[in-house]
Amino acid sequence: DYFYGIPSALQQGGARVFVAQVSAAESTEVRGEQLLAQVRQVLALTGAGKVNLIGHSHGGPTSRYVAGVAPSLVASVTSVGGVNRGSRVADILRGVLPPGTLSEAVVNGAIQGFVALINLGSGGGGLPQQPVAALNSLTTAGLADFNRRFPQALPSGCGSGAELGNGVRYFSWTGTQPVTNLLDVSDGSLGALSLVFGEANDGLVSACSSRLGRHLGDYGQNHLDEVNQVLGLRNWFATDPVTLYRQHARRLQQLGL
Ligand code: CA
Repeated sequence: DYFYGIPSALQQGGARVFVAQVSAAESTEVRGEQLLAQVRQVLALTGAGKVNLIGHSHGGPTSRYVAGVAPSLVASVTSVGGVNRGSRVADILRGVLPPGTLSEAVVNGAIQGFVALINLGSGGGGLPQQPVAALNSLTTAGLADFNRRFPQALPSGCGSGAELGNGVRYFSWTGTQPVTNLLDVSDGSLGALSLVFGEANDGLVSACSSRLGRHLGDYGQNHLDEVNQVLGLRNWFATDPVTLYRQHARRLQQLGL
């Protein structure tokens, strides 16, 4: 249920949808190998030649890893609120920012929000969890290292990158509104986290960090709204997160992917 109501919406539209289970808190490489194994299973099960990968948050780099090591198995990678250049929140948690620049309350809020996010995603019982390894992958330095090895589709600035890399199409979208619905218990944490950025962000990832391939837009969503969480509580006056996934599935279909 991580992508709340989204797989069923895509299935109603005729798509074949498989929800991957990877460690919520692990390095990009460990998560990527877990995802690659599931991609091979799906291809064997369906007889399809390639998959379209849609990843949220750390799922962006995780999908990029699979496309990087096995491009022949991947038609497209779509990064939603993806941590493609690292997260300032991860930097703070890892302690790489100069001390004294942020109040203790903000840092505590950041830690609680990060833990809440990991708990939300940790549906995969039995999988290894290494929060420090996850954190190291999600810092600005961690992503700089990853991006040197997997540079496909990254923009040089804050716009779109190349849509095609190694035969794989790349897309992204993100939210840029940290607080969207006061009925949602996660909005307080994301609102507190947003204060550490000093630039457009969704509460955990900056707008610029989210860019990958053809950037499809910035929406009135926070980091959890991007997967229609918690339980569909989002900005009622902004685009429905589920609609974006439906539209994107049609886009991929029209491109023959
Ligand atoms: Ca929400």
